[in-house]
Amino acid sequence: MNILHLRDNRQRGLHWSKPRARPIETLPVPDTLYIPISHWQQTTAELLVTTGSTLYKGQPLTRSYNHNVIITHASSSGEVIDISDNRIAIKTDGRDEVSDELTKTTDSLSRQEITDIAHRNGLTGQGGAGFPLARKIASLPQQPQLLLVNAAECDPDIHCDDALIQAYAPLVVESVLTIAEACEIDRVVIGIENDKTRSIEQLQQAMARQTARQNIELVTIPSQYPSGAENILLQLCTSEQPGPHESLASAGILSMNIATCYAMGQAVFNGMPPISRITTVVTPDGRHRNFKLLTGTPVNHILDYVAYERPIASIEQEVPLHVTQGGRMMSEALDTQAVITQQSNCITISNTKGVQSSVPCIRCGACSDICPVRLMPQHLHKAATHFDAQQLDNLNVDRCIECRCCDVVCPSAIPLTAQFIQAKEHKHRQNNEQIAADLAKQRYDKRQRRLQKERSGKRRTSLKEKAAPATPQSRKDLIAQALKRSAKKKPNDAADNGSSH
Ligand code: SF4
Ligand code: SF4
Repeated sequence: MNILHLRDNRQRGLHWSKPRARPIETLPVPDTLYIPISHWQQTTAELLVTTGSTLYKGQPLTRSYNHNVIITHASSSGEVIDISDNRIAIKTDGRDEVSDELTKTTDSLSRQEITDIAHRNGLTGQGGAGFPLARKIASLPQQPQLLLVNAAECDPDIHCDDALIQAYAPLVVESVLTIAEACEIDRVVIGIENDKTRSIEQLQQAMARQTARQNIELVTIPSQYPSGAENILLQLCTSEQPGPHESLASAGILSMNIATCYAMGQAVFNGMPPISRITTVVTPDGRHRNFKLLTGTPVNHILDYVAYERPIASIEQEVPLHVTQGGRMMSEALDTQAVITQQSNCITISNTKGVQSSVPCIRCGACSDICPVRLMPQHLHKAATHFDAQQLDNLNVDRCIECRCCDVVCPSAIPLTAQFIQAKEHKHRQNNEQIAADLAKQRYDKRQRRLQKERSGKRRTSLKEKAAPATPQSRKDLIAQALKRSAKKKPNDAADNGSSH
């Protein structure tokens, strides 16, 4: 069933032609880096360093045998100055000395080996929620069908993948082929917007140098939001869709962001874990610059070094700067203590908070017209406001891809997507609680049945014992007891008899 469609959003402000990405710049190494420590449920990565440890660039800081826990590495050389529950602070020494224990690979790899490399290097998806790559590869079926490489960055503010391809296309293509070969995937498709002409050229040249290896298909798609959403990209590139309740992985599709493929290439061929990432920084004067930033770099460091012009009025009125992460469409507020992670694709520095107050829905229907997964956001909004779980289910809230198209067109400025995210979380929490309650009830019923069985077993045994025929030995005892009782009774009986005569 075709459940997705990319509407023609030219009239709705969701279609744009982006200028070519600016080349990658670098910033000085910060004085202090803060490397986050990964937790997953009750499991935390095991620390390999203590306060005072000397570190080299790329050196592992933690380890774990659990694929859900992400292993972290030092992004520059220096000394550990503090360790808290959530992060390791490194005082850098300015030498940026690389560890000599990095493991490079040139041999062909098996699926298990590439999964181990992904885990050992703490690789996560760099285009979305930061899912551990080792777990993603391990969850594929025995014979995956397709490797879908997502080179579409449809948000108007994000240019980092375009800059990355222009700088590193040969390594990216080499890495994509290595992943496909290791996972025994025969079909590889790279999806990219048709206006990234320079990147398309670079990829075609890199692919032409690899003709002896597996064939890669480069598919160009319209430059329109949200063409980079996984399921929409799949449909645009292959006209296929997974089943309504099927994930891409269970359908045999390994979907990877192009920046993740680059990070995998660095880990395999150079032994270097993902200790930096290319990030677009949007400045208050509207420029889009691309920086290669070390993971653990504080956002404050970027504000200090990225030169931009602020309007005089905002300086005079001492308007504070606002920092968000994730581009114009999927942005979330960051505090200045936040640090760069593998998922930091875009940082926006602005003079305004950009929050509009909302008014009630006027039922204009603009949100339904634009929704790429054919949902009815105005009805979802009503169901979410009163948290009507049944109605949310009927309206397929779980199919919302959180693209924020409905927010952008809503004349009432209702934060629809935030409501749907909250409703989904609430619904999943309720489902989980229901599952836990059902399991507890099942356990209780089982225990009651067992106790009942034990009780009736005991009763049966005692009845059996009572009803059991006397054995020869017990018969003898019974006779002896009866004789004894009658012997005791006889003198009285005689006295009674005497008195009667
Ligand atoms: S776009 Fe906004 S105002 Fe219009 S129907 Fe949807 S929720 Fe209501
Ligand atoms: S965020 Fe809005 S437009 Fe996007 S999928 Fe969800 S309901 Fe549809």
